[in-house]
Formats: sequence, structure tokens, C-alpha cells
Amino acid sequence: MVTVFQVILWSILANIPIGIIAHRRKSLRAPDGIIVAGILGFILFLAHWFYWVVVILFFSSSSLLTKYKHSSRMKQEAMQFAEKGGNRDMFQVLANSGVLLVISLYFLLDKGSWAAPLIHPLSIAGITSIAVVTADTWSTELGVLSSSSPRFILNLKRKVPRGTSGGISTRGLISTAIGSLLIASAFGFVLYSKTNNGLLALIFLLVLSGGVLGSLIDSILGASIQAQFECPSCNKVTEKRFHAKCGGVKTNHIRGFKIINNDTVNFVSALIPAVIVYFVSNSVLL
Ligand SMILES: [Zn+2]
Repeated sequence: MVTVFQVILWSILANIPIGIIAHRRKSLRAPDGIIVAGILGFILFLAHWFYWVVVILFFSSSSLLTKYKHSSRMKQEAMQFAEKGGNRDMFQVLANSGVLLVISLYFLLDKGSWAAPLIHPLSIAGITSIAVVTADTWSTELGVLSSSSPRFILNLKRKVPRGTSGGISTRGLISTAIGSLLIASAFGFVLYSKTNNGLLALIFLLVLSGGVLGSLIDSILGASIQAQFECPSCNKVTEKRFHAKCGGVKTNHIRGFKIINNDTVNFVSALIPAVIVYFVSNSVLL
């Protein structure tokens, strides 16, 4: 029997090395990103060790991919558009893992530590939200390395500059599928001996397709409602409110809703497939 005390102790021991590595690699912004990620890691681990594992899979693979070919011309070009880089602040952490965090808190209060049921619509929905953010990060980090110009998701005939919100490429779409596959496979692996093959295949496909769907929703929202700005000195379109390359000059709002930034879009894109997957699995599992 595992006591609550043991789970808390393991949770602290598991999260400290990750925090140190993340800080050294500048994958989390100090102090807010590190503090919020630490609390998040603690709560996820307390609810179910696997919740923690999927978020670590997302976080570690994303951090590695952010560093991958970081100084290439393509990534540098794309970075002029992105609002934030690999140094995640607390809002990014919450936008990415907020859905699973709420589900963890629910199970913690309802069932106690290490008692969240994995074969449950809420668990399947929560894991799907992590599949979305993983798929989305993979597509962004690997898609920008595509040799051809990306096309605009709302008008595929139009080519857009690398890094534009809503720009898609074949390479990006393949990366989306692989990112989602990583999370769906990890879930399938853990459930392997716990359920029959039919249900296992269904859960796997739900998470996999939910992850890809969310990444596409992210591109569509990024292309439509997300705030876009234009630099008055170089006329480049960007998500940034200030253009560092032009001495930090304040950019002008040109499209989208001013209050909807990349974090909002990420959170909503993870939430929508999670809700759909919740209702589908709820009808199957009953
Ligand atoms: Zn500029």
C-alpha cells in the first residue's frame, strides 16, 4: 500500500531534477515558469503518475525540438513572428497543461492521491489535450524547417512567410501526426494489459485524432482570431507587441482580437478536442 506521504515524497523527488534541467536549459522562465511548472508537476504526479509522464514527454520532446537546428536560417526567420520562444512563462505552462491540471485536481479531491482512473472519459480527454499541445509544438518546431514556403490554412493557394500563424506545410502536418502519435502510443502502452483490444484501439484512435484535430484548430484560430501586429519600422507582420529586431519599437495591431494571444489559442485548441473526446468516450464507456 502506497501512503500519501510516500506519493508526496516521490513527487518532490521526481520534480526537482526536472526543474533543475529545465532551468539550466532555459526551457522555463525564472521564476514564474519554474514555480508554476513545479506546482503543476506536483499536482499531476499526485493525481496519477501517468499524467505526470505524458506532460514530461510533451515538455522534454518540445524542449529538444526547440533547440534542434535552433540557429538555422529557417528557424531564425520564423522566430520573428512568434510571440514567445522556448523559455516558457507561467501562461504558456498553464495554456498547455491547464486542461489536464483541472482534471487532476478533480480526481485528487474526488478520489485521493494516485487514484485517478485512466480508463475514464476525463482521463482520455486530459491525455488528448496533451496530445494536442505536443502535436502543435512538433508541427511548429519541425514544420518551419520545411524547404518550401508554408501555405495559409484558410486559403491553400496563398503562400505565407515561414512562422506565420496559420501557415501549414506537408512537413508540419507529418510532424503533427508524429507528435500526437507519441502521446497516444504512451497511453496505449500503459493501458495495454488493463483493457480489451477493441477498447484499447478506440482510446488510441481518439487520442491520436484528437491531437491532430487540435493542432489544426490551433492553425485556424491562429490565422483568424489571434492578434497580429505590424512593425512600423520594417513592416513585418508579427505576434509580438514589441519588435526586438527594430530596437523594441511598439508594433501596431492590424488583425484579430487584441486580447487573443497565442496562449489563449493554445488553450482553446487543447480544450475543444478534449471536450469532443470526453463526450465520445463517455458514450462508449457507459
Ligand atoms: Zn521591425
